[in-house]
Amino acid sequence: MENPATRPEVKSALSGTTGIDIRKSPTLRTDWIYAAVPLGDGMAARAAASLDEMNSRLSLWWRRSLVGVLLSLAVLFGLSFLVARLLSRPLEMAAATADRYARGDFAHRLPAQGSLEMSRLTESLGAMAMELDAKFKLITRQREEMSAVFEAMSEGVLALDADGRIMLVNKAAENILGLRGDTAGKHIGIAARNPDFGDAVKKTAAAGQPLEREIRIPRDRGGDILAQVHAAPMREDGKIVGILTVIRDVTRLRRLEIMRRDFVANVSHELRTPVTTIQSCLETLIEDSGTGKDEMGTFLEMALRNTRRMGAIIGNLLLLAGMESGANGDSGASARHPVKPVLDDALSLCQGDAEARGVTVNSDCNEETSALMNPQLVTHALVNLLDNAIKYGPEGGVIEVTARHNGDRTEITVRDKGPGIAPQYQSRIFERFFRINGSSRIKEGSGLGLALAKHIALAQDGDITIDSAIGSGSAFTLILPRA
Ligand code: ADP
Repeated sequence: MENPATRPEVKSALSGTTGIDIRKSPTLRTDWIYAAVPLGDGMAARAAASLDEMNSRLSLWWRRSLVGVLLSLAVLFGLSFLVARLLSRPLEMAAATADRYARGDFAHRLPAQGSLEMSRLTESLGAMAMELDAKFKLITRQREEMSAVFEAMSEGVLALDADGRIMLVNKAAENILGLRGDTAGKHIGIAARNPDFGDAVKKTAAAGQPLEREIRIPRDRGGDILAQVHAAPMREDGKIVGILTVIRDVTRLRRLEIMRRDFVANVSHELRTPVTTIQSCLETLIEDSGTGKDEMGTFLEMALRNTRRMGAIIGNLLLLAGMESGANGDSGASARHPVKPVLDDALSLCQGDAEARGVTVNSDCNEETSALMNPQLVTHALVNLLDNAIKYGPEGGVIEVTARHNGDRTEITVRDKGPGIAPQYQSRIFERFFRINGSSRIKEGSGLGLALAKHIALAQDGDITIDSAIGSGSAFTLILPRA
């Protein structure tokens, strides 16, 4: 054998550091690994091993380690999967339950399970389901009630979207408008085929204002239907999103109104001749008897006064009926007329009554004041206003009459210093036959004077307004168009 001290590993061990070397063994002709460690005092110890054997041991060790690692990973993976399953299962069940609630199945309940947090979640889900269930039931009930009310209404209700398509319609509206089949989503022009109704809807949408109009709906069989239509825009954030219409069948009402008007007109007409005859007989009798002082004379005077009153009522009724039916086709304002002569006429007609009560009437109207009017009818209205001022004002009092232009209107005001009219009666006194309690006991009257005056004013495209308070007199203003 060679001197081992010449080997590199021994050399390095002799010089004090561990030496390692791999080389072919000259005797065995295979690769060997040599290691030498210093022992001190110029001595070293050397060991040698076959490299093949070392490698095969190492690879065995690697293989075992790899198998160990893989096995550990598999176990770890399995365990994690189990734990994840354990944790996610209740969550999946909770998600499935939430899905059922979303579909409206509130009867389902999630069994309490899992961790404290999971049981809390289960409890909350259950409580939420109960609350939602109660709310849904309430909404459904309210909806059913609303739809029952909606369907039972005698007024027709029809809602259209901004494009004129039917969103909502009740039975009454279907009947009045003659809608057939399923009309939801259909355009109103196609479903109703009534140009007047379509026009009312269009005008409401264009103006953005509520509108009221009476329309005629033709029927194949039987007479036409007269319907009163109220149309109003529906808004969302200030934008018009549709039109709501309420439709009432007023055919019967209008028929009754015409019957009433004709009845009053016919009765008044029939009464006029006998009353006039009685009046002239009484006047002749009084003239012939030459005295009004004895009992007979007093009765005759009383009979004559009441007959005249009846005559006035009949005259007013006939005039009203005529205006309502449009018989006096010229009742509207036809042309511009100066106000002064009309006012003077009215004043002269009331002069007798004013003198009888010692009332002074001051009139302030210049020649230029004019208005668009029917002079005969306006005289009639003014006489009624003056008559009331004389009748209800104090004896020996003063009445102020003024006529003025005010913008595009002409206003004629009759102001008295009478008892005044309480606010609650101020709109009612224009109703036919309405008299404030007590008036009938104090003054003669029919309750027709103001109704007629208002009617005349409206027929001229004008109006009558009142400014009055208890204790401070009344001012009635007849408003007429100026041009
Ligand atoms: P009447 O024939 O009763 O005067 P009107 O229609 O002219 O009928 O008036 C209706 C009611 O209004 C009267 O009954 C009266 O109570 C009240 N009225 C009308 N004008 C006046 C007035 N100038 N002052 C106080 N009350 C008045």
